[in-house]
Amino acid sequence: MARNKGKKYVYFFGAGRSEGKAAMKSLLGGKGANLAEMAGLGLPVPPGFTISTEACDEYYKLGKQKLFGLVKPQIGEALQKLEKATGKTFGRGRRPLLLSVRSGAAVSMPGMMDTVLNLGLNPETVKAMIEISGNERFVMDSYRRFIQMFGDVVMGVPHHDFEKELDAVKAKRGVELDTQLDTDDLKEVIRRYKAVVKRDTGRTFPDDPMEQLHRGIDAVFGSWNNPRAIKYRELNDIRGLLGTAVNVQTMVFGNSGGNSATGVAFTRDPSTGESRYFYGEYLINAQGEDVVAGIRTPQQITLQGSREWAKSQRISEKKRKSEFASLEETMPAVFKQLDGFRVVLEEHYRDMQDLEFTIEDGTLYMLQTRNGKRTAAAAVRIASDMIKEKLITEKEAVLRVDPASLDQLLHPVFVKASEDKALKLTTGLPASPGAATGHVVFSAEDAELWSEMGKRVILCRTETSPEDIGGMAVAKGILTSRGGMTSHAAVVARGMGKCCVAGAGDVKMDYAGKRFKVGDNVVREGDWISLNGTTGVVYSGEVSTVEPKLSGPFGDIMKLADKHRKLGVRTNADTPHDAAVAVKFGAEGIGLCRTEHMFFEGDRIIAFRRLILVAETVKTLRRKLETADGDEKKQLEKELREPLKQYKLALKELLPLQRSDFVGIFKALKGRPCTIRLLDPPLHEFLPHDEEGQKEMAETMGVAKDEIGRLVDSLHEFNPMLGHRGCRLGMTYPEVTEMQTRAICEAACRVPDSKPEIMVPLVGNVKELQNQKAIILRTVREVEKKRKKKLKVMIGTMIEVPRAAVTADEIAAEAEFFSFGTNDLTQMGCGFSRDDAGKFLNEYVAAGIYDYDPFQVLDQRGVGRLMETAVDLGRRTRPKIKLGICGEHGGEPKSVAFCHRTGLNYVSCSPYRVPIARLAAAQAALTS
Ligand code: PEP
Ligand code: MG
Repeated sequence: MARNKGKKYVYFFGAGRSEGKAAMKSLLGGKGANLAEMAGLGLPVPPGFTISTEACDEYYKLGKQKLFGLVKPQIGEALQKLEKATGKTFGRGRRPLLLSVRSGAAVSMPGMMDTVLNLGLNPETVKAMIEISGNERFVMDSYRRFIQMFGDVVMGVPHHDFEKELDAVKAKRGVELDTQLDTDDLKEVIRRYKAVVKRDTGRTFPDDPMEQLHRGIDAVFGSWNNPRAIKYRELNDIRGLLGTAVNVQTMVFGNSGGNSATGVAFTRDPSTGESRYFYGEYLINAQGEDVVAGIRTPQQITLQGSREWAKSQRISEKKRKSEFASLEETMPAVFKQLDGFRVVLEEHYRDMQDLEFTIEDGTLYMLQTRNGKRTAAAAVRIASDMIKEKLITEKEAVLRVDPASLDQLLHPVFVKASEDKALKLTTGLPASPGAATGHVVFSAEDAELWSEMGKRVILCRTETSPEDIGGMAVAKGILTSRGGMTSHAAVVARGMGKCCVAGAGDVKMDYAGKRFKVGDNVVREGDWISLNGTTGVVYSGEVSTVEPKLSGPFGDIMKLADKHRKLGVRTNADTPHDAAVAVKFGAEGIGLCRTEHMFFEGDRIIAFRRLILVAETVKTLRRKLETADGDEKKQLEKELREPLKQYKLALKELLPLQRSDFVGIFKALKGRPCTIRLLDPPLHEFLPHDEEGQKEMAETMGVAKDEIGRLVDSLHEFNPMLGHRGCRLGMTYPEVTEMQTRAICEAACRVPDSKPEIMVPLVGNVKELQNQKAIILRTVREVEKKRKKKLKVMIGTMIEVPRAAVTADEIAAEAEFFSFGTNDLTQMGCGFSRDDAGKFLNEYVAAGIYDYDPFQVLDQRGVGRLMETAVDLGRRTRPKIKLGICGEHGGEPKSVAFCHRTGLNYVSCSPYRVPIARLAAAQAALTS
């Protein structure tokens, strides 16, 4: 502990004396660092101090007693400075200093950590506050809010218990809004609140301000590890933070009367990224939490925003002006000042800012600025616009967009005609764009349950709270009947890239009846609804969707990504349609065409099953023939004649089918390279395993059902993933390798510019590759001779068996390219079955044994080492060997960065991940 003595934990800001700055985020948290920076810029920030994230870390490591022993003296000093800066005194005197206590980690976690406002109020300071403000109602309102927040956050009294008392007093008085309660009503609320605290906790509400402050700080540190915070970090992959900082700041009051207000704003539209006007909301005579709580409907900051909002809500101009006027109209001078800060802050931070402000008796205070959360569409647009505005460089723009978030832009939106026809139920706020269709559910638990059963759901809530986070994560869309654009549902949905319609006031949720009413329509649990998160419209039923637009700002950023990336990006596709989609998304070729998928389609499965049926007989007879002689040999040769004829016939039947597939794919690729993998899965995967299916197969093949049963049994393997598959099939059935090669080569002859690359799967020993390569080469020559055409066919292998990785120097002597099959390489490298490991891998990740599921994010320290070894050995033998990856990791940003560092030539991933891989590759190139 001694080593921590003298360590600085508390950093003062405000009154022109900031000890911190924006660059100190990891120590002061985002909020604390930016408050210090804003104060340093000369903006009106109420003074305060930040207790560092290191203190939070030590709170857990040393224990709270020891930590408070170290920190309390520094808090005392900071309080003295604060008293001097404000001319107020904490917990006593004629001008009491009231404080807010807020959390703030280096990465913002909306709704996850708790806030206490108005700290320092007790019967004595309440009296003084009434004297200086001359506004008893305001002081009582502040006091009751303080008891509520402190009681909830620090003392663990359920929020609901307070709400019940507040509602009871409102009912008694026959009013609807909190603002309609008078001073006496509020006094009654306070009495009731204190009784609730005593009843629920057995303790009296504390009056000592120092105790209030220390307990407030304690609660913030404690909340770092509450289940909501842990879940949020888990969902957002937030790791490696020390903890949260605590910001203690002088209170300013947005609820001190009609000339006071509080609000939040974004310097650009966080949904679309547009910068048409200053986007934000405020509430007159309210405290910060009111704006996001969704209890009152917030008003727009600008006149233009206000008019557009009113139009979307079908509110008349007259009503808008009298009930929902903009800040630009109600407080024009303050609006002008705030609008000036918008420009200052955006230029200073060179990014879209999310601001919080409070107006106390006509004076504007800035309470927060941070880089605003935004949808992927907004991120792309802002990055592209800011280059044009010369605020950021091209490279910065590429780094500003999260590759994984692009997924949001690649998914379908509603088909206009289908949307036009759909029954419109109501309109809410377009809180997070996109389109979603699903079954209605009314709780987060049901959302999780239904989606586990494979159902698409829309989570419908009056409003959401942090407890709903799990359900929100699995829902396709979120509908709320209360709350604005900055309500919890809206903010969280945007962060998740999830379609959300918020504040659809006409919707009356009935949780108990598992239904909602909207006008005359009743929508029950399980019914289909559709949400348009871009317009806010809610439809009954399922609406068809259409592919998104890939031009505009998205196209701009993609172009820049291509300019800066070094890695090629290919796709895993085995149909002309998928190949065409991937090319549209920017794929530079196919990195993996799994040929077996072609055998499952339509009538092909029949031909392929016929092949398997006779192939087994052929194999057995051939084995016997190897050792037979004399009459036995003759007899076996006779026996083999018919099955062999059938076998060749089946292959002949399959050849044109495969050939036409390849023709289609080569055409879709328009001269781009195409890596085609020879047959890989174990043969039993193509056979029916149920009675019914086997009967049907027997009838189609004209054999006895028992024969099919015997075949299925004979192909049974205890561990098929390590069994008779990949090149092992090609070794046993060389004719299959030959047929596939012939189909590829003949297709290549038909499509000019096609660039086939034949890939042998599951090689572990160079001799396997030599064997298969000989067949491939012989077949290529045969086709060349027959068609009188010179073909350029590359031959390579997958590296997916650890033995192949560590003998890659030998294998490279035969292979012109390697493609890392990291699915199998992870299976065999880590020893996790691809089919079964899902049952326990989550636990492994939760226990920190692996940082991520190694089948999703490449295990760089283990499987990655195998890859590095193979790259090194392969290049020693063949310096120009072409290297790629085609396992699932090829479209995962962290794994793409690894591939860049390891010096691969390309990554290959599913069509929808191609843009993600392009951007991730560019970011890897720019940051390495
Ligand atoms: C791999 O193993 O990574 C691979 C791409 O092949 P498959 O997933 O088809 O086994
Ligand atoms: Mg594989």
